[in-house]
Amino acid sequence: MLTLLLQYLWNYTALTVLSVAAFYLSLIATSLPPTAEERAAIDRAIGVLEQRGFVNEARVLRSSVTFRATDHWLNAIIEKENAYAAANFPFQLITTYPDFFNKAVDDTERAAVLLHESRHLFGEDENAAYSYVWQNRERLGWTLRSHGTTASYITIEQQTREMAPELFNCPERPWSDCTLR
Ligand SMILES: [Zn+2]
Repeated sequence: MLTLLLQYLWNYTALTVLSVAAFYLSLIATSLPPTAEERAAIDRAIGVLEQRGFVNEARVLRSSVTFRATDHWLNAIIEKENAYAAANFPFQLITTYPDFFNKAVDDTERAAVLLHESRHLFGEDENAAYSYVWQNRERLGWTLRSHGTTASYITIEQQTREMAPELFNCPERPWSDCTLR
């Protein structure tokens, strides 16, 4: 009886592992990897995160993430979260789009995008990911003073106001932004 039960459990576990692996491989197979030049830009952005003390995020991005540069079938059927990048939790996949390379003006801006995506890989939702980046933008070196006029800064601020409105609930602060003094 016990042997039968163990056999059943083993079969069930093996089937589950194989299904997850097949699903993951199908995501990889239906998308393209970044070019060498794109990969270098991704690595420089991870380097910025490391330098600025986002050690856990940098470690996850460097060691456990597979980067893709085109949508796999799953991204193609779900709603796009933004034009820069998308993360698939718990598969530890990040897809970077043309805006990540072209619209973002430098490695610090690309680091801000990867910081957001890395939070999803820790299981966080949009509210938490937008909130985390906005509250840590000083530490990242991506501020109103350094990047306030770039298209990406303006876009991401707008998205943050939509996704994390509680950070803009301080009428006594400049632009009602609770993170500003
Ligand atoms: Zn997101």
